[in-house]
Amino acid sequence: MSKDFDVIVIGGGHAGCEAAAASARMGAKTALLTHKLDTIGAMSCNPAIGGLGKGHLVREIDALDGLMGRVIDQAGIQYRMLNASKGAAVRGPRAQADRKLYAQAIQKALQAQENLAFIEDGAEDLILSSDGRQIEGVITSSGKKVMARSVVITTGTFLRGVIHRGKEQTPAGRVGEEPATGLALTLERLEFPLGRLKTGTPARIYKDSINWQACKEQPGDETPVPFSFMSDEITVPQISCYITYTTEETHEVIRDNLHQAPLYSGQIKGEGPRYCPSIEDKVTRFADKDRHQIFLEPEGLDSELVYPNGISNALPTDVQEKMLKTIPGLENVRVAEWAYAIEYDYVDPRSLTNTLETKKLNGLFLAGQINGTTGYEEAAAQGLMAGLNAALKSDNVSSETQKFTLDRSEAYIGVLIDDLITRGAPEPYRMFTSRAEYRLRLRADNADQRLTQKGIELGCVSSGRQKVWSQKKKNLESALELIRDKRATPNELEDIGIIINKDGKYRTAHDLLRYPNFGWAEVLTVWPELSGIEADIREQIEIDAIYSGYMERQDADIEAFKRDENLMIPDDINYRNIGSLSNEVIQKLEKAMPETLGAASRVPGVTPPAIMALLRTVKSNSKKKNAA
Ligand code: FAD
Repeated sequence: MSKDFDVIVIGGGHAGCEAAAASARMGAKTALLTHKLDTIGAMSCNPAIGGLGKGHLVREIDALDGLMGRVIDQAGIQYRMLNASKGAAVRGPRAQADRKLYAQAIQKALQAQENLAFIEDGAEDLILSSDGRQIEGVITSSGKKVMARSVVITTGTFLRGVIHRGKEQTPAGRVGEEPATGLALTLERLEFPLGRLKTGTPARIYKDSINWQACKEQPGDETPVPFSFMSDEITVPQISCYITYTTEETHEVIRDNLHQAPLYSGQIKGEGPRYCPSIEDKVTRFADKDRHQIFLEPEGLDSELVYPNGISNALPTDVQEKMLKTIPGLENVRVAEWAYAIEYDYVDPRSLTNTLETKKLNGLFLAGQINGTTGYEEAAAQGLMAGLNAALKSDNVSSETQKFTLDRSEAYIGVLIDDLITRGAPEPYRMFTSRAEYRLRLRADNADQRLTQKGIELGCVSSGRQKVWSQKKKNLESALELIRDKRATPNELEDIGIIINKDGKYRTAHDLLRYPNFGWAEVLTVWPELSGIEADIREQIEIDAIYSGYMERQDADIEAFKRDENLMIPDDINYRNIGSLSNEVIQKLEKAMPETLGAASRVPGVTPPAIMALLRTVKSNSKKKNAA
């Protein structure tokens, strides 16, 4: 096969940008094929990055030298550390973005990327090898054939997208953009398991039509904490958001018009995002609540528009207008773009391997909203992993690794992909800290400690970041050495007011940091000579120390999990030959085709005894094979 590129990425959304950048960083000759170059990096819905669980994903993407963290740091206009008063494991960095600055920054980063070409066109169909098992390229809407070793599809909400506003239905990928129909038909023809999902967005309203006095100001953090391990500080001007609420009158307007809401009239069939419900949903599901919060988020520093976060809906425009005017501060509001819901095709992600390659077609990868997720961060994380793995298939990439995966104990990215490929996405999937069983280890603050070295070994980390990381590593190691060297007895500590158990054992400065009630203030009282350690290194060491006790226990669990988690299940396994499995379990395993024992254990309905039986069978089969 003569090929034009090693990797073609279809779609310039959040998954596509990361996929294309990651593939090109690996050294693969990459093309980003997307409808319109000027919509690359567009935020289809709310202008914000991060949040609980999502912020962790951004830090992990950044630790592997992805784009999202660096880009939001050039576009963030209000930073807030969510859960700041809680433990570091569940803190969620979040930033309001200037929509225009975000797209500009990501486009600039991609243009500066070596090995990356851009094609402004639609992808209409796929080219397969004659046996139909290998991807060979893409046919574009203008009829061109572009050949490649691997293709990553990241088409977001565009596959047979339909916008709903009341009874009005308009085919679209998002407002004002054509849907992708040809590619959806191709996936259907190739018998990929397709389903329909739905998401929605609120109206965009004019800033100068809001009565700000009626709303409550919500300033950002005094000192914004950057997302990227490469950013020293945030220099973008910071602004406030504002809060208002729906009223009883708002709810009445909605209830009176539910028959016109496509969600309730039966017009929309696809499942919507449970954790980002529309206002029709909130009013119906939480009928006892007399108000719902709305964040008024400016769309940018010089934008005339505001995004009213919390009132996405698909009501007819006259009902929307009536509803908006019942909200304090919005009595005289003018609307630039009405709210809408969108229904689109997605592919059941259980048809993917843990590299996001399809099981059916060698070299075809899927990433982002097409896999049933919702959110920019979830999309970007998948794009990164699909891009890296697509690149690994190329002859131009010299790497000892054939595939790059992260498991549930290593990263939220691992949790995300494992959840998707084993459980599917019967409703739009979004990340939460509660999804990660090893969340004490998987903190946003230590993403670089967990992942950057892996990225360096893989070959996806630039020399600039390698330098920053190795300096930080050196600083951490030498600071740790220093503080482990400083020791005092309980009596010596008592002399300066630090009371601990009088067991006669020495405590090091590091030991003191492990106590929840002591911190650097106490350590520096005892050993003032440690004040030379830089503030960010001090903070990191303190967080690591606080969690170290829990982590030792968790490490033991991870060890046990890893022993059998990664045990490969042979492709030719016959579940029907494992005597003790119920028919239901057999069917579920046959459908999911898990690659590892860990993946099998997370297929819903597969019981622990079934896993034990499977473990025994796989181990005894491999023993028999070895003996033969
Ligand atoms: P997208 O960002 O959708 O990007 C897809 C890209 O692919 C686009 O550049 C498009 O031009 C291109 N493309 C598509 N088809 C083709 C083709 N055939 N050929 C070439 N290029 C193609 N997320 C939330 O977390 N919460 C929400 O409440 C929420 N609400 C949303 C409401 C709406 C109306 C929409 C549209 C999205 C909403 N989102 C929400 C989702 C968020 O926008 C997505 O999760 C995220 O953008 C997905 O990223 P992606 O890269 O997968 O796809």
